[in-house]
Amino acid sequence: MPSTAELRHLHFLSQIPNIEEEEMALQFVSKICVGCEKAFRTSNNSAKCYDCTLEDITHGNPPEEGDFNTAGIVSGTLSAQERRYLQQDLESVELGRTTEEELGLGEEEDEEYYPDEEEEPDDWEYDEKEAAKWGDEG
Ligand SMILES: [Zn+2]
Repeated sequence: MPSTAELRHLHFLSQIPNIEEEEMALQFVSKICVGCEKAFRTSNNSAKCYDCTLEDITHGNPPEEGDFNTAGIVSGTLSAQERRYLQQDLESVELGRTTEEELGLGEEEDEEYYPDEEEEPDDWEYDEKEAAKWGDEG
């Protein structure tokens, strides 16, 4: 029999958020969603699938970026690897830099770019006769 102290120690260890241990402990079970009655797999015994959980979070509004992550966590449908990526995402946010900023996305470059449609090609020669001919048909 392990002593009380040993049991307490084991309990303490189980409380440490360790991704490696979490991955080992991550057990997916197949369930039927109470919302849409589709089969799905969850690691936290969620009653609702990812889609229905997301629906609960957004209440029909367009989901924001964080809502996808929240739905994945709440519904327990994230794989251990996805949770790890998410953890890394959150850490990078805490450091004050996002992947979008690193890639230079999210800038409004599109609105500043206008193709020079009115500029004529260099080899363009204006033909008065041709212009008049086409002009008559107008
Ligand atoms: Zn569902």
